[in-house]
Amino acid sequence: MRNVVILGSGCAGNTAALYSARANLQPLVVSGHEPGGQLSLTTLVENFPGFPDGINGPDLVENIKQQAQHFGAEYMHGTVTGVDFSRRPFRLDADGTWLEARAVIIATGASARWLGLPSEQKLIGHGVSSCATCDGFFYRGKKIMVVGGGDSAMEEAIFLTRFGSEVTVIHRRDEFRASRIMLDRARANPKIKWLTSTVVEEILDGGTGVVTGVRLRHLKDGRSWEQAVDGFFLAIGHRPNTAAFKGQIDLDPDGYILTKGGARTSVEGVFHAGDVQDRVYRQAITAAGAGCMAAIEAERFLEAEAH
Ligand code: NAP
Repeated sequence: MRNVVILGSGCAGNTAALYSARANLQPLVVSGHEPGGQLSLTTLVENFPGFPDGINGPDLVENIKQQAQHFGAEYMHGTVTGVDFSRRPFRLDADGTWLEARAVIIATGASARWLGLPSEQKLIGHGVSSCATCDGFFYRGKKIMVVGGGDSAMEEAIFLTRFGSEVTVIHRRDEFRASRIMLDRARANPKIKWLTSTVVEEILDGGTGVVTGVRLRHLKDGRSWEQAVDGFFLAIGHRPNTAAFKGQIDLDPDGYILTKGGARTSVEGVFHAGDVQDRVYRQAITAAGAGCMAAIEAERFLEAEAH
C-alpha cells in the first residue's frame, strides 16, 4: 500500500514526486508510455526560469527525476491502463500489476494528435513523424512538410530548416494560432514556404512504403494537387492521456480532467497535475507548478485522513 502513486514522469509528475518525497510520503511514480513526457522530445528550453542559457528538455526532466529520487521517490516502468477509484484504497492496474494507494496524482500529460488518414497511420516511422526533434536528423537535404498553425508548427518548422533543403508549412486557415514572436521568426526564415487554407488529403508512398509526396487541396478554390515530399511532420496539437480514467473521474468532452479547484478532481484523494488538465498554458513551468500543487494537496489530504 502506497501513500501516493503518481502517474506520469514529465515535468508535472516528477515535480509532484519531488514535493511528496520531501514530505516523507515515499511516492511511487509509474513512468508511463512516454517517460519524461513531452520535454523528453524537445531540444533547448529557453523559458524555464533559472537557466539563463537554456537547458535541454531531456536534461531538465531527468534532473527533476534525480532530485525526487534523492529524497526517496521510487520509479517503476509501465503504464496504468485501468483504475478503481470507487473505494479506498484506490486500485491501479499497471500493466497487470495491481497497486494500492491512499492518494493518486494523475500527471499523464497529453500526446500528439494525428490527422487520422489511413495513409498517415501506415507511414508512421516511414516518413511520417510527430516529433521533429526525434526524426529531423533523417531528412538532411530533403523536402520536409509540417502541418499546423500553432506554436509547435512554427517551432518544428524552424528546427527542421537545420536539416531539410526546404520546409513547407501547411495550415488549414489563413490566420495562425501561433504567437506573434514565433510566427515572425518562422516568416523571417528563408527556407520556410507557406501553404495556407490548404489541407492534406492523402500521404503518398508511390508503392515504396516510404513517404514520397502528399495530395493537397486548397479550401478556397477547391484545387487539388500532388507535391513531392520526403518527411511529413504533424504539429496539430495534443490529446490528453485519460483513457484509463473514463467513468472514474469527471472529464470534459475532449478528455481533459475537469478540475474542482486547485489540483482536485471529482474524486477526493485523486489529484491532477500538468497538461492532462491544462489546455491553456501547457508549459514546462506551469506543469512543474501544478505538480507542486498536487503534492501539497495530496499531503494535506493524507494528513487530514490520519486524524
Ligand atoms: P495548438 O496551439 O492547439 O495548435 C494546433 C494547430 O493545429 C492549430 O493551428 C490547428 O488549426 C491545427 N490543427 C488541429 N487539428 C488539425 C487537423 N485535424 N488538421 C489540420 N490542422 C489541424 O497546438 P500547439 O501548436 O501544439 O501548441 C500547444 C500549446 O503549447 C500552445 O499553448 C502553444 O503556445 C504552446 N507552445 C509554445 C511553444 C513556445 O512558446 N516555444 C512551442 C510549442 C507549443 P486551427 O488554428 O485552424 O485550429
